[in-house]
Amino acid sequence: MRGTKPVIGMLSSPAPSEGLPLRHRTNTAYIEAIRMAGGIPLQIPIGPPEEAAAYVELLDGLLVPGGEDIAPCLLGEDALPEVTYTYLEKDVFEIALVRAAEAKGLPIFGICRGIQLLNVVFGGTLYQDMARQCGKNICHNQNRSIRDALSHRVTVEEGSLLGKLLGEGEIWVNSYHHQALNRVAKGFRVTAVAADGIIEGFERADGRVYGVQWHPEEMVVRYPQFLSLFRHLVELSAGGKKKVLF
Ligand code: MN
Repeated sequence: MRGTKPVIGMLSSPAPSEGLPLRHRTNTAYIEAIRMAGGIPLQIPIGPPEEAAAYVELLDGLLVPGGEDIAPCLLGEDALPEVTYTYLEKDVFEIALVRAAEAKGLPIFGICRGIQLLNVVFGGTLYQDMARQCGKNICHNQNRSIRDALSHRVTVEEGSLLGKLLGEGEIWVNSYHHQALNRVAKGFRVTAVAADGIIEGFERADGRVYGVQWHPEEMVVRYPQFLSLFRHLVELSAGGKKKVLF
């Protein structure tokens, strides 16, 4: 850590805007949540995977944010008809970022696409489309304009890091996904589940790699308890040596 606050990296990637040149973007909510938790947010532009380690050298922790579907070809699967929103170069670069962060022993927090990407990197699999493959009845893909609306409950498992951060038992969350974790990566435990059985949280035994399927960054203003998920990342990134000022 260089300064008094840990630097938390997160990918930014080009998104087409009508009538404008390509611009790299990261949702402001992630940036602000890291700042609110006491970290310094740093946007990393998508690039060739061999650059990933150089970027990770600048970091104390990594946030893996939401975004496109993971390209099914990375799992050796043909894409189902519902998978129309992928970005392979982004997947490849972000996987390289996660591997470099893991090699350096950095803490990693994945959100939505992020928990899915972490599961893939560490050896798990995904449902490409829950409605088709799981036949579930809960709305996991709510109205996209009201970001902190509560969509469904999840049950947070006893004795988990997530339980320590958010409280055990049922909590309400938002939901913007049509994909989900299928087989969970070895060494990870499921820490939150929706009533339809969809996995909504997981963590590694050491608590240094963890993720949630919902979007806490969109909820922290109205529901400040969700800030604890970001504080945990910032505290781990500070290495427990320096006091983090909130
Ligand atoms: Mn959900």
